[in-house]
Amino acid sequence: MTRHIVTLIPGDGIGLETSAAMQRVVAASGADIEWELAPAGAACMEEHGTPLPESTIEAVERNKVAIKGPITTPVGTGFRSVNVALRKTLDLYVCLRPVLSIPGAGGRYEDVDLVIVRENSEDLYAGIEFEEGSEGACKLIDFVEKSGAGSIRPDSGISIKPISVTATRNIVEYAFEYALKHGRKKVTAAHKANIMKHSDGLFLREARGVAKRYEGKVAFDDKIIDAFCMSLVMDPSQFDVIVFPNLYGDIASDLAAGLVGGLGIAPGANIGRDCAVFEAVHGSAPDIAGKNLANPTAEILSAAMMLDHLGELEAAERIRRAVRGVYARGEHLTADIRRATGSGAIAASCTEFTDALVAALEAE
Ligand code: ATP
Repeated sequence: MTRHIVTLIPGDGIGLETSAAMQRVVAASGADIEWELAPAGAACMEEHGTPLPESTIEAVERNKVAIKGPITTPVGTGFRSVNVALRKTLDLYVCLRPVLSIPGAGGRYEDVDLVIVRENSEDLYAGIEFEEGSEGACKLIDFVEKSGAGSIRPDSGISIKPISVTATRNIVEYAFEYALKHGRKKVTAAHKANIMKHSDGLFLREARGVAKRYEGKVAFDDKIIDAFCMSLVMDPSQFDVIVFPNLYGDIASDLAAGLVGGLGIAPGANIGRDCAVFEAVHGSAPDIAGKNLANPTAEILSAAMMLDHLGELEAAERIRRAVRGVYARGEHLTADIRRATGSGAIAASCTEFTDALVAALEAE
């Protein structure tokens, strides 16, 4: 059996609990993983003076594969998102989020099977922002006024939304290549090109250009993002692979997760040409952190995606089978799933759920 060295960034909030659960499950899957721990986040800031030490970046670059628990991004403070910084520094230009029904998880539909491909490097996540009243904001407002493009109220804060030809081609190509490799039939591009002609309009134009190269192999269509949201909720079976600019992809990920039972079961990956960092869709959920209430399924399924990536297909499938088994039996489900299913049964803790999963793997 091949031994793989994987960087583990446990994160904070519920990340500490879900990462520990994930490690137990991966160990029980039979895969031979050596974890190299790397810090990031608020506690790391206190200890190392930075929320994302150079040594953590180097560890991911060295091992090429990492799995990361969620990291809190405080709202409205000077603390920039570690998640965004990691994606930028390592050029993880793809955010891949498969959304799959798990029978017993309380989803609104039994048969959701779609894949979200979210651009990961630009759009309103570019981090180019001007504080209200700052010199930069005033200059920009002045420039916009003088250019004749329109006017901006002087007391505005401004976030810039760049969408480039390069990043759009890269992400749409990834979506089509993914579809080809995984036998998917259609790619849908979601956008608001009717309103934002030079950003979303460019995204749609370039997506159509890339789609031409796959004609006859993978179908293509596009949807305006608001209409897409309604269509997704009414009938998710009409979608297959969906490619988004960054922000819409973020929002649609949570929406799609809600269709299958919630954030507790939604896995994901950030993928670049050299490295991949696997992580659940959910954040650090400070409201339930440290209470042994978190559902670790999302991070565990992210680990299964990681094992696929490492070529450990059997171990990955074993984990997915065990997850399906535990949900189908329904005896040890965490509180978020109990709420989603409307069941009055007592909820399992994070540890009890993980125990059940490990027992299922060991019983195979
Ligand atoms: P971020 O902005 O960092 O993505 P968010 O605002 O989307 O975070 P989350 O932390 O992802 O918020 O979660 C929102 C809520 O969903 C949490 O407060 C929590 O109640 C619930 N939740 C999220 N993840 C889980 C989980 N793994 N298990 C149980 N409940 C969860």
